[in-house]
Amino acid sequence: MKDVLFFEKDTFFSQSEAQKALESFFQDSPLMLGIVELTSDDIIHLNDNPASAKFFGSTQAALRNQPASNLGVPRKTIDFWMKHYQEARRINHPVKFRESFERDNQILWFQVTVSFLGMAQNGRPRFSYLLEDISKIIEEENLRLMKEKTAGDLQFQMLADAMTQLAWIADAEGKIYWYNSRWYEYTGTTLEDVKGSGWEKVHHPDHLQRVVDFVTEAWKKPVPWELTFPLKSKSGEWRWFLTRAVPIKDSKGQILRWLGTNTDITEHQNLINEIEFQKSRFETVMKQMPAAVIIGEAPSGKLIFANEKMGEVWGHEMIPSADISEYVDWVGFHPDGTRYKGEDWPLARSIKHGEVVNNEDTPILRGDGKHAVLRLSSAPVRDREGNIVAGVVICQDVTESLRIHNTLKENEAQLKEAIIARDEFLSIASHELKTPLTSLILNGQMIKKQIQKDEKATLTREKVEKFVDHTNKQTARLTRLVDDMLEISRLRTGKLSVEKETVNLTELLKDLKSRFDELFIETTGEELQIEIGQTISGLWDKMRLEQTLSNLLTNALKYGNKKPVKITVTKVKNQAFISVIDQGIGIRAENKEKIFQRFERAGISANDISGLGLGLYIAKQIALAHDGTIFVESEFGKGSKFVVCLPIDHSTQSLGVDLHQN
Ligand code: ADP
Repeated sequence: MKDVLFFEKDTFFSQSEAQKALESFFQDSPLMLGIVELTSDDIIHLNDNPASAKFFGSTQAALRNQPASNLGVPRKTIDFWMKHYQEARRINHPVKFRESFERDNQILWFQVTVSFLGMAQNGRPRFSYLLEDISKIIEEENLRLMKEKTAGDLQFQMLADAMTQLAWIADAEGKIYWYNSRWYEYTGTTLEDVKGSGWEKVHHPDHLQRVVDFVTEAWKKPVPWELTFPLKSKSGEWRWFLTRAVPIKDSKGQILRWLGTNTDITEHQNLINEIEFQKSRFETVMKQMPAAVIIGEAPSGKLIFANEKMGEVWGHEMIPSADISEYVDWVGFHPDGTRYKGEDWPLARSIKHGEVVNNEDTPILRGDGKHAVLRLSSAPVRDREGNIVAGVVICQDVTESLRIHNTLKENEAQLKEAIIARDEFLSIASHELKTPLTSLILNGQMIKKQIQKDEKATLTREKVEKFVDHTNKQTARLTRLVDDMLEISRLRTGKLSVEKETVNLTELLKDLKSRFDELFIETTGEELQIEIGQTISGLWDKMRLEQTLSNLLTNALKYGNKKPVKITVTKVKNQAFISVIDQGIGIRAENKEKIFQRFERAGISANDISGLGLGLYIAKQIALAHDGTIFVESEFGKGSKFVVCLPIDHSTQSLGVDLHQN
């Protein structure tokens, strides 16, 4: 049959027949149909067909001219419909949308079509509506979706049951509703035990909170996640699992459910724990090490580790050398002072040639510009096959201990010298003491013999005086020796003390001359000569000054080749220079300093010329105690000039008396 077009001319329906047909379609249609007009805020029902009236639970007549708000239609629904009517008017085209209603605890779905018919005479827009019940279609669609979903679950479940891992399925909120058989085998639980959040029962109390916090957040985001935690087995053993979950999403990206697996990684975790333990032990050891440790990779030599001590020992930050040639940036020196090349460093030698280096002392320049000596020990690290995989060097700063070692060595040498000097001194001292003692003993024995023989005639006053003189001389010599020795032991414990008073040099020398002249005449055939240009007085210790000059005069007698001796006194600026000049054996250049040291006799033996080697030492200490000095000018074999230099205090300078004028 040909399509029926109601309003077309030339059809086999007349206009009234067409209207009738339309009327009967309107009245008998199972679709809900009607005509409405819109006011500013309501929908006025003009004409609804019986199907529509039935849906409203009313009659066609009762609905006529009723606003929707009077028919118990909620405001929200009226607005929703008005929006679509207005849209149809705006685009001047029918608008379709879906609408659901709840009826007798059942949701009914309708496909709605609204069309703009034109403006009514009252000025309101007029529309038609048509509702088609599509509840059945929607139900079928949902069923199909459900089937698809469970089919997905089933596939996963079949796969998961064949897996050695534990597996589960959770809904979009993370409530687990299915576990695979491995899960039940491992945990010894039932679905009832662990449904929903029951899984918490098999979690370790130390980790539960962490897991709960994590998953609470993870369920919210539609992205896969991973987490590691221990799970209790049915025998009560805790094993570590790596959990991975993947969200299954619908076409709009909404999470439908989560598929999860738990993989037993206990062995793996144990290994990691062991490595962590080893690592932390290594780090602790490295931290505690009193030496710097640096590790380089083989074969490149790239530096991969340095402990904290490294910075302290080297005085700079870690230099990240990428290969052996770059070790040149670490500044070290060969014994001849040339700079270390990269390959010269012990670490480089261990990595390149497997060399084991033990305690190699290497001078370095630290980052802070200080020089130091590092004791380097290095060794290669090999794998099971014996290949070198790395090299380790230990650097110990031995600068200070080397310094102490050297000082100790020096001290030891000095100590040895001192012991030798002491032994020498003891033999000299006993020799020196023995001479006057022997002489005294002989003298005494002689007198005794003469008395016993009663040779009164021979024991004249003259003879007795001679004996006494001799005894006095020897006693004086003994006294001097003992004094010198006492002085030395005093000096050992501290600085020589001086008691200053005003001393007139001219007078002091005059006094000395009178005491020494007899000896000088006896030895040199001449008096001691004294030349003083100007009388000088100073604040000095008179006794000590006498002691110094006596020592110098005694030496001039001992080493002066029996030739005349002279004393000169001059003043330069604020210093007095007192020189004792002889024409004796002189002093070799190399001994000029030495002779002022303790027990130093410049190669002269006690058999040649008696002495303890203390006179000049004491003289020097006295000069120093006056803030002065003593030195010698001499040419070997041609005499010596000993010069005592003392500062003068001007306030004490006086005119004094010229010796030659007296
Ligand atoms: P001693 O005379 O008891 O040896 P000194 O300390 O007085 O001790 O002198 C140290 C050494 O200096 C002497 O042993 C001698 O070798 C040398 N010496 C001192 N005075 C003179 C001098 N006037 N001429 C040459 N040598 C001297």
